[in-house]
Amino acid sequence: MSVLDLARPEIRAMQPYSSARMEASGGEVFLNANESAWTPVGDDGLGCNRYPEPQPAALVDTLAAFYGVRREQLLVGRGSDEAIDLLVRAFCRAGRDAILIQPPTFGMYAVCARIQDAGVIEVPLAADFTLDVDAVLAALTPAVKLVFICTPNNPSGQPVPRADIERLARALAGRALLVVDEAYVEFGDALSVADLIDRHDNLAVLRTLSKAWALAGARIGSLLANAGVVALLRRIMAPYPLPLPCVDAALLALSGWGRANARERIGIVRAERARMQVALRRLAGVREVLPSQANFLAVRFDDAGAIYQRLLAAGIVVRDVRRYPNLADALRITIGTPAENDRVLAVLAGRGVAEGSA
Ligand code: PMP
Repeated sequence: MSVLDLARPEIRAMQPYSSARMEASGGEVFLNANESAWTPVGDDGLGCNRYPEPQPAALVDTLAAFYGVRREQLLVGRGSDEAIDLLVRAFCRAGRDAILIQPPTFGMYAVCARIQDAGVIEVPLAADFTLDVDAVLAALTPAVKLVFICTPNNPSGQPVPRADIERLARALAGRALLVVDEAYVEFGDALSVADLIDRHDNLAVLRTLSKAWALAGARIGSLLANAGVVALLRRIMAPYPLPLPCVDAALLALSGWGRANARERIGIVRAERARMQVALRRLAGVREVLPSQANFLAVRFDDAGAIYQRLLAAGIVVRDVRRYPNLADALRITIGTPAENDRVLAVLAGRGVAEGSA
């Protein structure tokens, strides 16, 4: 059985949109896409009067080499958000199929499922936020087409061991696609599981340039998966998802200069995460700082609501995660610059810091 047998039959059968860019190769005078023949003001050589490549070859090749997969195993889109949406739309029949998630986790998996009218089966993480593989397998029904795993998990911060992912991929073969979201993997000690894609045709990995690569504003995310899955999603993706300036920004970020810069910033985030963990644990009113392999800390407070307001009054916005199961007393604090982190600590310690003085 191929993993594609799990996909919606009508998606497999449909005739995809064929854009002007896809139909023509070569040529010098382009009169096939109703574009303007003139560049816009301030174009600076980008050529924004033309539609971009649907899957820009230079970016696909660079990302594939960087993530250690072949080009046909990579789909690049508007953030990993887009890949999540495409997966749900391609694999879940409305009103019939379902996804499986482990709350507390990233909210978009369930949102995309609800938009598609797919079911959402929840298998909560254990009290210590570890994944219970047996519970996931026990909850599986024939309706479940996608199982999402977030590692390190947002908002709790812990990674899922590679052995658990391998076990799940094996157990789900022929039954569901395992989607491993590695949005924060660069900040942790564990390596990506992308190398397992060749061994498991039902394994997909999500990567993004939004976090460690400082490009949230450019919206560049990748899906690494079996070539058949990638080809299927390319059929239903928007015709020209990636704006030229964003592709340019991504290529620069992935250049030697960009990589050195990202490495340095990742080092700072990791060092600041360790510093913040120690400093926060010492503060009165802090119940617990959860271990984290990501660029944020989930912190339990005696009165998280009051702390949220106190930080806000000082101009600091953190994420209120009290609505998530098992995090009813917690806030999620992203690791900022050392000066920003000092400001958080000063406010929490009750030392008001004048704007701009930190
Ligand atoms: N996955 C996880 C776990 C996230 O936390 C986020 C963003 N908060 C995303 C995916 C989406 O990232 P993007 O669309 O920017 O790649």
